[in-house]
Amino acid sequence: MATKYIFVTGGVTSSLGKGIISASLAKLLQARGFSVTIQKFDPYINIDPGTLNPYEHGECYVTEDGAETDLDLGHYERFLNVATSQANNVTTGRIYYNVIMQEREGAYLGKTVQVIPHITDEIKRRMLLLGQTGEYDIVITEIGGCVGDIESLPFIEAVRQLRWELGVNETCVIHLTLVPYLKAAGELKTKPTQHSVRDLSEAGVQPDILVCRSEHHVPMDLRKKIALFCNVKQNSVIESLDAETIYDVPLMMRKEKLDERVISKLKLPHRADPELDRWKEFLGRLKNPTSEVNIGLVGKYVELHDAYKSIVEAFVHAGAANECKVNLKWFQSENLSDENVAATLAGLDGILVAPGFGERGFKGKMEAIRYARENNIPFFGICLGMQCAAVEFARNVLGLEGANSTEMDADTPHPIIDLMEGQKEITQKGGTMRLGAYACELKKGSKAYSIYGKSKISERHRHRYEFNNTYIAAFEEAGMLATGINPETGLVEIIELQNHPWFVAAQYHPELKSTVLNPHPLFTKFVKAAMNYTRNK
Ligand code: GLN
Repeated sequence: MATKYIFVTGGVTSSLGKGIISASLAKLLQARGFSVTIQKFDPYINIDPGTLNPYEHGECYVTEDGAETDLDLGHYERFLNVATSQANNVTTGRIYYNVIMQEREGAYLGKTVQVIPHITDEIKRRMLLLGQTGEYDIVITEIGGCVGDIESLPFIEAVRQLRWELGVNETCVIHLTLVPYLKAAGELKTKPTQHSVRDLSEAGVQPDILVCRSEHHVPMDLRKKIALFCNVKQNSVIESLDAETIYDVPLMMRKEKLDERVISKLKLPHRADPELDRWKEFLGRLKNPTSEVNIGLVGKYVELHDAYKSIVEAFVHAGAANECKVNLKWFQSENLSDENVAATLAGLDGILVAPGFGERGFKGKMEAIRYARENNIPFFGICLGMQCAAVEFARNVLGLEGANSTEMDADTPHPIIDLMEGQKEITQKGGTMRLGAYACELKKGSKAYSIYGKSKISERHRHRYEFNNTYIAAFEEAGMLATGINPETGLVEIIELQNHPWFVAAQYHPELKSTVLNPHPLFTKFVKAAMNYTRNK
């Protein structure tokens, strides 16, 4: 079967949930036995989101092959349980970069290099790339931004060209719009949808399906009106109401028959109804918890929860696995001090210290860790959280005054966390950290080993600094064990504290691999430890 292409665009406003709609549709098609992947095209000029502040763009999601990507790729993986790669996220910057590099190499010698056809050709090449691997029946392409924005025009133009080139039944365009409710008038309004579809049509792309985000049920007569004004069939005007959880959306879209509309438009072979038993089972456990825990998330980007998207979702998966409601409580690490830490963190059943960069809030994180360590509260450190736990231990248990990470203090007398040799010469930013999947060997008999139930694991990384192995012996002697080691380099990937109910910290990012069908063992066991702590309190 030739690969079919679905394009998802958005209009009226951003934040309508294109990523979740794309992932939900992909889930439904996958559950019917099609092999599906999703890619995201972002209109900004950065080559990738790796250099963006989390406050700007939320979390930077890292793939197995070490690409720094948009957080929507995390949703794709969590919904589909299939890994994405470098090829699944393309920005305007990447497109221009490739074209400009080629121009310098003389690929266009004698020609004026222009948006059409050179930029659009490169966009089309990238849009078709995953389909050409032969691995997928269907490729869903989500176009970031809003239709009508100057910066997304070349993407829309590429979609227009591709629709002609590939033929009518080979592509399907789904446009996501907003149908707002005007309280004073007591009415849902279709005008913004009409305008946004007109914008899209003016660019030469007629959508096949409209997904209408609304806070109220969109009745049939309104769907009829939208269909009439927007040149789509009435049964292809689909409502998307606010959901209790994003994981409800596949079932909501199933009810609205989004998958059926797509199958009919693309003339896909008829397959059995989607097999969603395990998904529903997950939702059942998620919505019927039998216990509850309070977990503190200590970080410096806590004002924007999207900055920790994968961690939040990993807790949803782990909570469901334990039939336990996980209440995440957010703590700005900058505000924590020796004087207020006990009062501020009182009542928590577990403390997680989050990943991050730079000195701001580092001290507060250490206070939270000391509090968890001394009071036997389950503690989980991730990346900077792990580095912080190591520095805290060096200072407060080993008595190494001024111990630090060289990220925070280049002249520390005790560089517990230090730059890897290979990182010292690098000055360029973007794609230069230790990124992507690396193997890790767990020590038999350790807590880490019992959590994973095996000794060989692979996890994803995104950091420059590492545990300094000259300190391993001193740490182990005092009860902080290095129980996960990279087999090739000897780098420390996990530390865990003896004589503490649950104190585990990882240099890598386990949250990136947690999915609905495969909740991550570190998160499920951490939640379990928090449940036990609650019981014993
Ligand atoms: N700033 C630390 C480093 O670069 C940790 C990074 C992170 O938490 N992702 O090593």
